[in-house]
Amino acid sequence: MNYFNQLQTLLDASCAPYSGFNVASIVVLKDGRHFKGVNVESAAYPTTNCAERNAIQTAVTEGAKIGDLKEVHILARNAAKELVKPYPCGSCRQVIAEQSLNDTTVYCYSSEDDIATHSIASLLPFAFLGADL
Ligand code: ZN
Repeated sequence: MNYFNQLQTLLDASCAPYSGFNVASIVVLKDGRHFKGVNVESAAYPTTNCAERNAIQTAVTEGAKIGDLKEVHILARNAAKELVKPYPCGSCRQVIAEQSLNDTTVYCYSSEDDIATHSIASLLPFAFLGADL
């Protein structure tokens, strides 16, 4: 399913007063439920959270378990208000890998028709997962 229109609308909920870089994410679980997230910046920069992790944390709050994550969809808009194709940061790649047991697809949109798809295993090779502990 193409989530471009929903992601574009969701960008307006992003809280990015410092960078002006808005990010929206929708995650889809194997049971078909989906959850939304946006980036939320903080004046204390390390406390900023990404759209992807906010969406995943909401899914977990609503009952998702490790292995339930099926798809991660992402769209971003830079400070010049241009849509740009975002890729998950390293922290998000780690969380996506763990929550999907390293088996999910990440959809990076820059328009309705321009969508890069990547397996999380290709975005985070040699992932360190819970089974490695
Ligand atoms: Zn991130």
